[in-house]
Amino acid sequence: VLRMEAVRKSFGTSLVLRDVDLEVAPHTVTALIGASGSGKSTLLRCANLLEEVDDGAIWLDGEEITDPRADADAVRRRIGVVFQAYNLFPHLTVLQNITLAPQRVHGLSRADAEAQARELLDRLGLVAKADEYPDRLSGGQQQRTAIVRALAVRPRLLLLDEITAALDPELVGEVLNLVREVKDEGMTMVIATHEMAFAREVADQVCFLDAGVVLERGTPQEVFGAPREERTQKFLRRIV
Ligand code: ATP
Ligand code: MG
Repeated sequence: VLRMEAVRKSFGTSLVLRDVDLEVAPHTVTALIGASGSGKSTLLRCANLLEEVDDGAIWLDGEEITDPRADADAVRRRIGVVFQAYNLFPHLTVLQNITLAPQRVHGLSRADAEAQARELLDRLGLVAKADEYPDRLSGGQQQRTAIVRALAVRPRLLLLDEITAALDPELVGEVLNLVREVKDEGMTMVIATHEMAFAREVADQVCFLDAGVVLERGTPQEVFGAPREERTQKFLRRIV
């Protein structure tokens, strides 16, 4: 679904991504782990063309999206993104938040968009909140709504950046449960996370970023169970 080849990105004089290669197969979950500042968010932002890469190339479904002639808006329509901070519009209800993009971007009628949104909310256990405003929801419900909203445009790929980082610990579980369900439905995802236990359980591929380099990658068993690199071992010792 997604492929990155020798992607380089710097901000000023600091090189944040150094020749990053990444391959994300359909219906798989890739977890990006690594210390703060290692480049996880930047990698996700490059994949969504929120940042322009300095060098290298990125393909989405075989189309080179880093080609200057690529249509960035069309690319972003095929990639759902949820960030750490709640991304909901405060003046819109849950249902309105979710139906906005399908109507505006995909030209669905309001009735069709609402029917689809209610079905999605129902499936993901949020239908009772359809007519609430975000400030009446818990942080976990807000984040779950943000995920449902990202799914409503039927993206090819979902990018999740530290979606539980701002949550109280007791609310983390419900958000991770939703990610599990989304995975079971076959969505392809790339997840930047500090939740190692979750990454270990849900990921098919784990990439350890160290100072902008994918230092180690493999299955969760390989990376968590038997890390080859000393820096990976150190990182995991510190965090687990
Ligand atoms: P965290 O775990 O804290 O979220 P991260 O792995 O997501 O960290 P990034 O946010 O990708 O790390 O940042 C990587 C490096 O790039 C950091 O040194 C950061 O200061 C720098 N950086 C990120 N965005 C910008 C920007 N817009 N301008 C300048 N520097 C930036
Ligand atoms: Mg980050």
